[in-house]
Amino acid sequence: MKQYRNFVDGAFVEGTRTFPDLNPVDGTLVAEVHEADAALVNAAVAAARTAFEGPWGRTTMAERCRLLRAVADEIDRRAEDLLGAEVADTGKPERTARHLDVARAAANFRTFADVAAAAGQESYLTEYGEGGRALNYAVRKPLGVVAAIVPWNLPLLLLTWKLAPALACGNTVVVKPSEQTPGSATILAGILADVGLPPGVVNVVHGFGKDSAGEFLTGHPGVDGITFTGSSATGAAIMAAAAPRVRPVSFELGGKNSAVVFADCDLDAAVDGLTRSVFANTGQVCLCTERVYLQRAVFDEVAERLTTAARSLRLGRPGDPAVTTGPLISAEHRRKVLRYYALAEKAGATILTGGGVPAIDDELAAGFWVEPTLWTGLTNDDTVVREEIFGPAAALIPFDDEDEAVALANDSDYGLAASVWTRDIARGHRVAQRMNTGIAWVNTWFLRELRSPFGGMGRSGLGREGGRHSLDFYTETTNVCVDLC
Ligand code: NAD
Repeated sequence: MKQYRNFVDGAFVEGTRTFPDLNPVDGTLVAEVHEADAALVNAAVAAARTAFEGPWGRTTMAERCRLLRAVADEIDRRAEDLLGAEVADTGKPERTARHLDVARAAANFRTFADVAAAAGQESYLTEYGEGGRALNYAVRKPLGVVAAIVPWNLPLLLLTWKLAPALACGNTVVVKPSEQTPGSATILAGILADVGLPPGVVNVVHGFGKDSAGEFLTGHPGVDGITFTGSSATGAAIMAAAAPRVRPVSFELGGKNSAVVFADCDLDAAVDGLTRSVFANTGQVCLCTERVYLQRAVFDEVAERLTTAARSLRLGRPGDPAVTTGPLISAEHRRKVLRYYALAEKAGATILTGGGVPAIDDELAAGFWVEPTLWTGLTNDDTVVREEIFGPAAALIPFDDEDEAVALANDSDYGLAASVWTRDIARGHRVAQRMNTGIAWVNTWFLRELRSPFGGMGRSGLGREGGRHSLDFYTETTNVCVDLC
């Protein structure tokens, strides 16, 4: 049986106990995962500290950027290994894992090598008194030991989104992948060692959140900053863990994202975009749309076309090129999603399609499948329209005018993403700017520029990462003021 071990101080290390890593497609065992206990998490943090205070702390930006590019090249070279691990852990179609997860992992390393290499520093020539002048300039320094906690939906993509800028800035890192997707992080640890990252610069500890590696890490006094992507509830728990020592945190949390479709839009593009934004990765992307607001004149047509698109999604094994949609990540997550399906029915929703567990091949019956689902007849007051489902489901709700659409879209505790569909350019800009979300797309969805700020408002997060915003989080700044007189 395959074993996923912890990676501490440059070596793969067993845990005192193991837990199973299941394939969500059919419930079979992918690997045994070695759980890190408190002592091993201590060892990982200590190794990261020693590496930070050793030669790694004195590397030049040019050297670190060279290493980042070497990591990207090695990711490309070992793409099939990473792809295999990602697909086995998540059940997502191979096509998605190849073009999204693995490709973005390499792109993250290249982008942050470019961003870090190009970054300048802030400086001011300050005039004072009678002809006095001083030079102020800001010096960036790494935070130190960074804890990176990541979820299971885009495991490698989200891990490298944190790791690349953290390393570019000169930090050392202890990574805690999701207990459900330990594979790609373990392979990446080997890649990092192979390209020459010194021992202790990146460590990977496996385990759960509560009373396990997650809590041991975020509560550890040797951690200088925490970057976390995951649910809002866990974000709140990590914030409490970080509070006593007032450590910096960066949170990319849950979403309850809206799409606003105006009657003047390109309907083909909108239906295509909505199909992706509702159902991509089986709805398990923080940016997925779960609230679709449709202008009344096109409500019936879009609802009908989206229903047809949902019914044409093909569920099945990741390697089948015709398959568009994988299972949910776990039995527990399926229970949660099905609870929302039941709540929608109880609230009186009309089910346009889906609403339950699909009929599927016997050999996949032990997998965690749900039907892509669309509802009408719900309002913003219903629980399923307020809480994040994180599954392939959306409520379609009508609106009459622009102000109403903006009010409905902004009526949420979350504020991660929105998309606006219209042919009216001025309206597109206007409505996008009024969205209380970290990102607002016009006539597209999921188009990402890795140098632009990314994050959420409200329960969707704290801070921004991406481009120079990542450099801001992964560094501390000292302003030096030199009197030139
Ligand atoms: P989760 O919060 O349950 O777990 C995320 C990670 O945190 C896992 O590694 C888990 O082991 C760890 N963890 C759990 N409790 C912990 C604790 N008390 N202390 C320390 N670590 C702890 O989230 P999930 O179910 O893995 O992921 C799905 C969620 O992630 C959704 O809410 C989704 O919207 C969100 N997400 C957000 C973004 C974004 O960029 N905003 C991206 C992807 C996913």
